[in-house]
Formats: sequence, structure tokens, C-alpha cells
Amino acid sequence: MIEHLIELAYLVATALFILSLHWMSDPKTARRGVFAGIAAMLAAVLATWAKPEVVNHLWVILPIAVAIVPGVWLALVPLTAVPQRTAFSHAFGGLAAGLVGTAEYFFWLNHEPWNLTTFRMVAIIAEIILGYLTFTGSLIAAAKLQEIKWIPQRPWVYKGQQAVNLGALLVAVLLGVLLIAKQGNLGAWSPVVFGAIIVLALNFGWMLVMPIGGADMPTVISILNSYAGLSAVAMGFVLDNKLLITAGALDGSSGLILSIIMCKAMNRSFTNVLFGAFGQVQKAAAAGEKRTVKSETPEGAAQIMEQSNLVVVVPGYGMAVAQAQHRIRELYDLLTKRGVAVKFAIHPVAGRMPGHMNVLLAEAEIPYDRLVEMDEINPEMPQCDVCLVVGANDVVNPAARHDKTSPIYGMPIIAADKAKTCFAIKRTMNPGFAGIENELYYADHTYMIFGDAKAVVGELVKALSGGLH
Ligand code: NDP
Repeated sequence: MIEHLIELAYLVATALFILSLHWMSDPKTARRGVFAGIAAMLAAVLATWAKPEVVNHLWVILPIAVAIVPGVWLALVPLTAVPQRTAFSHAFGGLAAGLVGTAEYFFWLNHEPWNLTTFRMVAIIAEIILGYLTFTGSLIAAAKLQEIKWIPQRPWVYKGQQAVNLGALLVAVLLGVLLIAKQGNLGAWSPVVFGAIIVLALNFGWMLVMPIGGADMPTVISILNSYAGLSAVAMGFVLDNKLLITAGALDGSSGLILSIIMCKAMNRSFTNVLFGAFGQVQKAAAAGEKRTVKSETPEGAAQIMEQSNLVVVVPGYGMAVAQAQHRIRELYDLLTKRGVAVKFAIHPVAGRMPGHMNVLLAEAEIPYDRLVEMDEINPEMPQCDVCLVVGANDVVNPAARHDKTSPIYGMPIIAADKAKTCFAIKRTMNPGFAGIENELYYADHTYMIFGDAKAVVGELVKALSGGLH
């Protein structure tokens, strides 16, 4: 009876995981998707806990109790820190898979060596290689995104790096093949070879992510997501758990699909992202070359915006930092009331996570039909009277179009430079995530409005509510 109930709970959990992904693909149903995912995970944990072979309940309660505090802490990080938080979660997922694979291997080796079938050994080797490389790779990705001082944010490269990295992976795989061929049993050499595979996988993980940086980080996170999913699939085969196999496959495939979507959006190929050391080369500005920018006051900008037919707002990471979305909603209301058409141009990698801008603008209840994807808004930009860039930088940098030496060359951008007038709100002339100067700010028709995005948009709102005519 209990076995049937567990199978039923697994079936319900699988269905809920699938529905969760489906609902999360649309902002209108995303919240429902999150709840479905939580319910699925709860059903999966409780059903596994109810298995008759789980006899020592303290070993289940203890880790849950220990994990609650860091779990709640991680869940409460600000939205701007979600990418590094996600990378951190992948690290734990990978570590869990690696440790389970290690524990299972040594248990069977010492107690039931006949259970180390070829199939099981293939699953264990896949699990530990993917699990451990995801662990260190994700930790480095999280550290880079958190801008931890002792980890270079820029790609870290040296001559022959790709050969060293691939060599390490190849040796790990070859040792794995050797263990598989010997049904996991190499006598006294078994722990040595198994340990060597772990060390090589741990090394490969961090070496894989160190040469990646700049604007490629979002894609790397989703690739690591799919590795974590694949290691869960292998873990499912090792533990003979169908739910782990399906949930892992969903995780792995969705991560892969997201990586492909992001690569397309960034005009990058998978191999380029993994081996291209993106963000590394930046043509230094000629020594002594000092370019000047023009600036405008919020009052002056408000006057021009009020007389426009079409205003396109380009939100970016700075809007998220400043939490300016509610002020932007007020600005949208005031301009719309005056007959100005206002649209929001959404770049696929604006901010620090996929859909970042959509989430913030939805929070401020900006009508969803006002949000326009990059490909759709770009042909309209020459008719746009004012383009208001709010804390966006890399996603509006025209160097991506023509400067072959630029690390963001080839990445599609929002054509803010094509608008009749462009106002760019930011605090300083510091670069954005990719660490490069933005040509847009020096263009003839661009005016900087320096300051915190929330304060500046607040000033624009004030000027417009003051009744400019
Ligand atoms: P950028 O990081 O290029 O630029 C953000 C700009 O916001 C900076 O120039 C900064 O300038 C300004 N800013 C920061 N705080 C404030 C504030 N309080 N008020 C006003 N301005 C502020 O952001 P984009 O959105 O243009 O581009 C996203 C970048 O992040 C891309 O390179 C992308 O690849 C990368 N990325 C994206 C992820 C994703 O999934 N979307 C994940 C990880 C990285 P200043 O300091 O002078 O104010």
C-alpha cells in the first residue's frame, strides 16, 4: 500500500514539475508556476522520506534543520543578487550529486561489489564528473557575479588553456572508462582512481569558468544549470529513482534551452561562450584621449519628453539597483495622460537575470503590452523622439554593432542611438557589467542626467506634475 502511495506521489510531483515549468514561461502565470514547483518538491521529499528503507529519521531531520537557516537567508537576497544566488544553488546541487555518487560507490564496493554493474558504473562516473565540476564551476561563477575581490571578474586566460582544460577532462573520462571496464573494482587502486576522477572533475569545473566573463556570465549560469540537471539524472539512475530522472531531465533540458535562447540573443555560439574568453580584449582608449559628454537637467529633459509623440524607456541593471520601477510607473502615467506614447524596450540580458526587467516593471504594474522585445522595438527607434535609458549600459552600446575589437561585438543591442534624442540616467561615467566604455554617451544627440535612477526619475515626475506646458 505505502509503495503505491509513494509511486502516486512521485507521479503527481512529476506532473507538477512539468506544469511549473510551463506556467513559469509566462509572467502572468509565473507565480502559480513557483507554487507548483514548491508543492512538487514537498511531495517528492515526503514520499522519499516515507520509503520503508528510511529507518534512521534523525539523518533526514538533521540536514533539513541545518539547511533551513541558510536556505531562508539565500531566499531573501535582493533581486539584483539572484544570478549569484542561483549559481550558489547549482553548486550545492552538484555537490549533493557528487557526494551521493561517492557514497553509493564505496558502499557497493565494500559490501555488494556484484551490484556495481556496467550500467551502474556508467551512471556513477557521469554523476561524479558532472556533479563535482558543477560544484566548483558554480562557486566560481557565483564569486565572479558577486564581484568578490580575489576572483577576477574578467576572463582569466593563458596560452594553451583550452588544451589543459580539455586534457584534464579527458584524463577523468579515461580513468572513468577504466573503472567501468573493471566493474568498479581495481583492488587497492579503486579508491585512488576514483579519488583522482573527483579531483580532476573539481579542477575542471573551476578551470572551465575562470576564462569566461563579461556579458557571457548569464549563459554560463544556465549551462551550469543544465549540468546540475544532468548530474541529477545520473543520480536517479544510480539510486533507481524515476522522479530524480525526470526532474533532472527537466532541469537539464530547460537549462540547455535557456542557454541556447541566450546565446541567440547575444549572437554567440555555445563553443564561443565556453572557450571564447568573452570580455577579455578591450581596446584601450588612446593615451590622453579625453572625450566629453553633454548633460541635461531633469527639468529640461521633462520639457522635451512632454512634447514628444513617442518615448521609449530602456531599463537596465541600474533601474534594479535604484529600485526606480515605481517612479517609472508614475512617469509613464503622467506622459500617457498628456498623449505621449510610452513603450519599454526589453533587452533579453538587461539586468542580472533573464526576465529581470519584466519582473520589476510587472511589480510596478506597468501594462504588459507596453513592454516590447528588442527585435520589435528596433525598427521603430528612428521614429522615437526620446529614448530614456534608465541605468542600462552594455545593452545600448553601439560598439557591439561595428567595433570588432570590442568584447561585446556581435551582441544585438537596443538601438537607443537611432532615437532623435537620448537621455541616459546613471550616477557616474563608470562602465557596465562588461567593463567597457559606451559610445552612446558621447553621441551628438545624447544627454547624460547624472544621479541615482530613482531620484532622477522622481525629479522628472516632479517636473511633469508641476505642470510644464
Ligand atoms: P550594465 O551592467 O551594463 O550597466 C548598468 C549601469 O547602471 C551602469 O552603467 C551603472 O552606472 C548604472 N547604475 C548602477 N546603479 C545605478 C543607480 N542606482 N542609478 C542609476 N544608474 C545606476 O547593465 P545592462 O542592464 O545594460 O546590461 C546587463 C549586463 O549584465 C550585460 O552585460 C549582461 O550580459 C550582464 N548580465 C546579465 C545577466 C542576465 O541574465 N540578464 C546575468 C549576468 C550578467 P553607474 O555606476 O555610473 O551609475
